[in-house]
Amino acid sequence: MPHTAVNVLAGTPPVNLLAVERKATHGGLKKSEARDATMKQWQQRRESATGKRWTQRLVGDLKQWCKRTHGDLSCHLTQLLTGHGCFGTYLHKTGKEATPSCHHCEAADDDAEHTLLHCPAKDAPKEALKAAIGEETLWTGTLMGSMLRDRGSWTAWETFTASVIGEKLQSERERRRQEPASES
Ligand SMILES: [Zn+2]
Repeated sequence: MPHTAVNVLAGTPPVNLLAVERKATHGGLKKSEARDATMKQWQQRRESATGKRWTQRLVGDLKQWCKRTHGDLSCHLTQLLTGHGCFGTYLHKTGKEATPSCHHCEAADDDAEHTLLHCPAKDAPKEALKAAIGEETLWTGTLMGSMLRDRGSWTAWETFTASVIGEKLQSERERRRQEPASES
């Protein structure tokens, strides 16, 4: 998993920015002001990065994300937000699957975006999620806002990922079991 995504989800600014911040507070700058500067730089750095990665598209405003007062990241939620987990493209890249295709529909590429937005096999849990968070459509730009709105919405996202990612993990395990043993 790229460090940047880990940093973002954990709400921890990159080490080199923290080093600058520490220097500034030793120099007498107030802690809160130094952190504000760090967050601003971190946000700028992300925005100037080329090729917006999945996590970046989901978690746009770092300050808002890091200041949230609710919302622990379950392992399922982390998989959805990073795209690293039981998705075809990731499993294929890491040598665990022969192809990146979706095992739940006809799509040639299964990634977090496919799972969240496009996979027809996930329509039922998606409908339940939309009803729970009061959104008519799901898209990357509103994900963070709806998760941060209140504890109930965060829980709805957790329930959704537990069901969808849980099912994918389960079917991945089934496939592993059916593979002929490579050793012996
Ligand atoms: Zn699919």
